[in-house]
Amino acid sequence: MKLAILTESVAGERRVAITPDVVAKLAGSGIEVVVQTGAGVAAHFPDAAYAEQGATIAADRASTLAGADVVAKVQPPTLDEVGALAPGTSTVGFLAPAANLDVVRALAAKKATAYSLELVPRISRAQSMDALSSQATVSGYLAGLAAAERLPKFFPLFMTAAGTVPPAKVLVLGAGVAGLQAIATARRLGAQVRAYDVRAAAKEEVQSLGATFVELPLETQEGSGGYAREQSEEFLARQRELIGNEVAASDVVITTAAVPGRKAPILVTAEMVDRMVEGSVVVDLAADTGGNCELTEPGREIDRNGVIVYGMANPPSAMP
Ligand code: NAD
Repeated sequence: MKLAILTESVAGERRVAITPDVVAKLAGSGIEVVVQTGAGVAAHFPDAAYAEQGATIAADRASTLAGADVVAKVQPPTLDEVGALAPGTSTVGFLAPAANLDVVRALAAKKATAYSLELVPRISRAQSMDALSSQATVSGYLAGLAAAERLPKFFPLFMTAAGTVPPAKVLVLGAGVAGLQAIATARRLGAQVRAYDVRAAAKEEVQSLGATFVELPLETQEGSGGYAREQSEEFLARQRELIGNEVAASDVVITTAAVPGRKAPILVTAEMVDRMVEGSVVVDLAADTGGNCELTEPGREIDRNGVIVYGMANPPSAMP
């Protein structure tokens, strides 16, 4: 079997589908690995590191794909990439089929078999195939750091002979994998953290990290497989009404709320941002799926009367 690794074509993507360590394991089981030249460079894996582990380095996309049975990628294949596949090829990686129907149709027309790793159920025996948790961990960690860097205040409490500096108040909305990591990071830096999620199970997890769970008089919105279910506009309107004072009282708001395959729910309105104290920071991890804050623009930092709204675009790529 021949496995092809393409250089990612989406602008700014620094990750690569396979590391040199994995090449060695696959080569050991008789799988021929071909890596397009430069595929790992942005992730600090030069061609030589792959070659040393037994991969063949190919000069361009066409020679990488020639005779390939399986193609592994990080980002969903583009239409152009699907066009370059031989009929019957398999693809493995993130596919986001609900957001990329044209790509799914093009793959079907090629009689390709596409494995969408984010759709592997998160059951115990599939944990080694969980491609979401590692990336969400990076996102949450980076969101905590991005907020601390932008806030013109300390995160930790300081008690000195000259006086006391109170800790920063951080509010995390959405306490899944990314949210929990953002909480842990903000806590490690000494901030006072409060967090909210629509799933009941999140409460204990938030508390176990030393943060306070924000109780809202709302029904939980449990979906299947540990995820939240899609919420009605009525629910979200009520949630925004209840969360407004929490947002206004925070120095930092980190939003991570998501429902798989859907646009991110709006949790923070422009009016809520306007009630925050100047110098406060909103970091929106849902920027790529529409944003949890009404003002979010993916990949940009908006200054709204002195409050920064930072929509982090593809955060895992920053730590390839
Ligand atoms: P996700 O990225 O889909 O969503 C992030 C969080 O946003 C979720 O906790 C969700 O409940 C929350 N959310 C959605 N709408 C919201 C709203 N309106 N207000 C506030 N919060 C809202 O989820 P995720 O982080 O990928 O995973 C969620 C859960 O899946 C985890 O906490 C865990 O229980 C489970 N999980 C299981 C495994 C495993 O068994 N292998 C691995 C990872 C995660």
